[in-house]
Amino acid sequence: MTPSLLPDYPTRGPAQPGTVYLVGAGPGDPELLTVRALRIIAQADVLVYDHLVSQAILDLVNPAAERMYAGKQRGNHSVPQDDLNLLLVKLARENKRIVRLKGGDPYTFGRGGEEVETLKENGVPFEVVPGITAAAGVAAFAGIPLTHRNHAQACVFVTGHLKDGSMNLDWPGLARRRQTVIIYMGLNGLSYLCEQLVAHGLPADWPAAIVQQGTTANQRTVTGTLTTLPELAVNAGLKAPTLIIVGEVVKLKDKLTWFSETG
Ligand code: SAH
Repeated sequence: MTPSLLPDYPTRGPAQPGTVYLVGAGPGDPELLTVRALRIIAQADVLVYDHLVSQAILDLVNPAAERMYAGKQRGNHSVPQDDLNLLLVKLARENKRIVRLKGGDPYTFGRGGEEVETLKENGVPFEVVPGITAAAGVAAFAGIPLTHRNHAQACVFVTGHLKDGSMNLDWPGLARRRQTVIIYMGLNGLSYLCEQLVAHGLPADWPAAIVQQGTTANQRTVTGTLTTLPELAVNAGLKAPTLIIVGEVVKLKDKLTWFSETG
């Protein structure tokens, strides 16, 4: 397996029993796992994963590992977050090597912080293995740079799905030129989001894109403007997970595309 390609590479050592590893699985393409993630998942005794983790990545996990699905689909939280936090504590106390595998990066809209708080409170040793967050991976595969000296000097990541179902964002802060706005979990609120950005000052023809299942064979990108994108996305029948990218950088896509979408 791949780790042997790096026999002398300095590492933090093998996975330890009684420890929880919060591992970022990246946006889907297994080749976007970090070397550390690949090593740790190959050594897991127990795997606790959510629905965003692709099958191709699950195939790289120690085949002998016990697998537990933690859900996390919109409106279908199979395991409530509090129970999940405590489950990790319980498994670690059984002296197992626990891998909590999350889509993207565990500390970017991944509730990694909440899980680690509980581990800390209970004195359970843990390590966080960062992953490529959807913004970075999906933008690269969609041919859209997040920043560009001529177009955007800032990039903001926001979630379009809040705990109580509302989307109470800092609209004046988001509706700025020379900035890219990345919206996670925004598909259901896409029309509202586009409306608000225009209402707060962005031009109606400001570029925007939505990318479904970025970095995978099912990647599909729809580009338009704040006015046209909601309808285009509906017509294309896009399904979650999708990432929304708003900003002038979207215009670079035609020039910078390299990954061919077949899905
Ligand atoms: N921790 C994850 C984000 C979890 S929230 C990360 O760092 O990427 C889940 C949201 O991430 C999805 O609703 C979607 O908006 C986005 N997302 C994750 N993977 C994606 C992918 N392959 N393509 C498009 N969006 C993705």
